[in-house]
Amino acid sequence: MNDIELYQNILGVTPPWVVTSVRLDLKGKTVTISVDHDAAQAPRCPVCGASASIYDHHIRRWRHLDTCQMTTIIECDVPRVSCKDHKVKQLAVPWAENNSHFTALFEALAITWLKETSITGVADILRLSWDEVAGIQERAVKRGLKRREAKPLVNIGIDETSYQKRHEYVTVVNDKDTGCIIDVLDDRKAATLAEWLKNWPQEHIESIKTVSMDMWDPFIKAVTDELPNGKEVICFDRFHVSQHLGKALDKVRSQEHRTLLSNSGESVLTGTKYKWLKNANRTDNRSRREFMQITRMALKTARAWAIKETASQLWNFSYRGAAQKAWQHLLGWISRCRLEPMKKVGRMIKNYLWGILNAILLRASNAVAEANNARIQWIKKMACGFRNRARFRMAILFHLGGLDLMPKMPEICELPI
Ligand SMILES: [Zn+2]
Repeated sequence: MNDIELYQNILGVTPPWVVTSVRLDLKGKTVTISVDHDAAQAPRCPVCGASASIYDHHIRRWRHLDTCQMTTIIECDVPRVSCKDHKVKQLAVPWAENNSHFTALFEALAITWLKETSITGVADILRLSWDEVAGIQERAVKRGLKRREAKPLVNIGIDETSYQKRHEYVTVVNDKDTGCIIDVLDDRKAATLAEWLKNWPQEHIESIKTVSMDMWDPFIKAVTDELPNGKEVICFDRFHVSQHLGKALDKVRSQEHRTLLSNSGESVLTGTKYKWLKNANRTDNRSRREFMQITRMALKTARAWAIKETASQLWNFSYRGAAQKAWQHLLGWISRCRLEPMKKVGRMIKNYLWGILNAILLRASNAVAEANNARIQWIKKMACGFRNRARFRMAILFHLGGLDLMPKMPEICELPI
């Protein structure tokens, strides 16, 4: 087998395409493979398949997988054909997708690397510019979104995540059944989410059974405006309720800590911040015993902690009436506790109790969104920030969208044995 036959086979180039030459530039460490369209074969229109006539040729180049660590380029004078119905069209080549400067195999390699490292890292490994790698990632996501089957939404989770270090947020829509992220929206406003919901066919959003979210009015408004049964499917999950109570507990602790220090110069609360916030079951026996002693002291923080712990026990009910009674009992206790940060959260829980009860009865949790949020933080860290929201969305959908990202591969490697 000579070099031309070798490349003909490796590239999977089949008639009417033929490899005509292989040029080696040792100094420039480049292999250039020339491919031609066989002039003897009548060309066909790429749209309708009818026989067409050659209109002109355009020289095009694609970066391919390296050959023995040498940059490998495919070069082809691609014919444009003239069809009586579709006018002038460029012939599609089997080794690359339209509008790409890379072969499908090269894009697949870049996509595989992008799964593991940042755009900058891939650019270094594959000797590409940052923009070229970002382009491959963007094409991969668009390809994946186009292939994604439009199917009814069932259990979704809506969460916000910070886009930059400053308080700029985007909305992340999670599919709680598959664990994938369906989309990332530009901000956390009601109009944006409502618009997104409007873009789905009616029957695809009527199928929604639960929407987990935080007690955030813009999200609530969008869902209740767009879904006829919005108030029955919105679920304020355990994680967010616990997060609000945790923040209030921490406020009580830091205020009390300051008061104790200014009164007597010492405080039993020194160094206890995370002990109060941690789930008591997650610590070892000795530290739990020590911590339990503090919880029995006459401290405001201990009272706030008892409220938070009690709330965490109220998520397993089968009947709405029983759940409602238990939460109302807790709300009564909170209203009398004389701890302003806790009372504030109490008022919030009271207002949104309907959605907490939905979460309990529908057994809905936003754990998927929580897990995905941690993964988004990893993506942010790896990328060292993003230029704009569109790039942030691309990166999230690339890694967490569960999309079929790979380009369509040529049928290659049928090497003669
Ligand atoms: Zn045609």
